[in-house]
Amino acid sequence: MRFETWESKARGATEAWRKQYVNTQYQTIENLAIYKKLIALKDPTKEQVDATIGNCTWTSCQCDLCARDMGAVVIFDVRLERGNILEMCIDCLRSALLLTTRMEGDLAEANTLLETSRQLLSEAFGILMIESSKAEAKHE
Ligand SMILES: [Zn+2]
Repeated sequence: MRFETWESKARGATEAWRKQYVNTQYQTIENLAIYKKLIALKDPTKEQVDATIGNCTWTSCQCDLCARDMGAVVIFDVRLERGNILEMCIDCLRSALLLTTRMEGDLAEANTLLETSRQLLSEAFGILMIESSKAEAKHE
């Protein structure tokens, strides 16, 4: 698990590009040209990296849960179904922590929160969530 920002991803983009495209099966003349441009930037900003590569995927901090890019994410060593590594924004991490706190205090309230976010979580993580709220509802 590590913390990354637009700036840290921009600084690491040249090395990440090298690992992906230099002396690998994906190396092309175009990819090498981009690599040389990235090296020339020395300490690049997000804007410079995005302009050089032609898109913002190498500096993006988009949250896999809420899909917003707030400029910072916590990256987990978990690979999602669609192949990318799980990245989560601070707001979603905070919500998850709040949920666990409520689960300790008020299970019914926590399950209501869990049910409303269950579908979103399931889509984002590609997993089936434990349907504890349905089990809880039977007691009511
Ligand atoms: Zn989020």
